[in-house]
Amino acid sequence: MVNIKKTLEYTAKAIKIFTLANAVYFCGFMIVANGIHRQFAQHIKSQSGLELILKDERKKLSLKDSIKINVNLNKDKKHVAHSKKLGDKDYEISLSNDTYDITTLRHELYHIADGHFESQEKIDDSFQGKFIKSIKYLYHDEPKAILYHMTGIKL
Ligand SMILES: [Zn+2]
Repeated sequence: MVNIKKTLEYTAKAIKIFTLANAVYFCGFMIVANGIHRQFAQHIKSQSGLELILKDERKKLSLKDSIKINVNLNKDKKHVAHSKKLGDKDYEISLSNDTYDITTLRHELYHIADGHFESQEKIDDSFQGKFIKSIKYLYHDEPKAILYHMTGIKL
């Protein structure tokens, strides 16, 4: 007789390993792709410079004025580049000293402009939901943002 509980446990374990293996593979690819691209990227030197570039980059992605985006340079931290949703039409982008180049800013802006936060929010936090979220992030959100920051192509 088939032990359903055991089968489910094995399946859950297999899914975890599959997700982790994919994450490792994909992160490796991203690090190499980003590293090469960053060698040629325009470096942003100050908070005021960053805000000027943000204005320009927002237009390229047709981000409406009603969408609030706060950008800040975090000079104390290393390897930090992330965006998050603070509330309705309210976002924050944080870039650390070693990552604040124009491609990183473009990458994070694309996540906002393409609605990645909103589509992730729609998925529940169950085991399956978390799995779907990570697959969506790895195979949809992240590749699209990378393609945009490297080429300017909006899919
Ligand atoms: Zn990203």
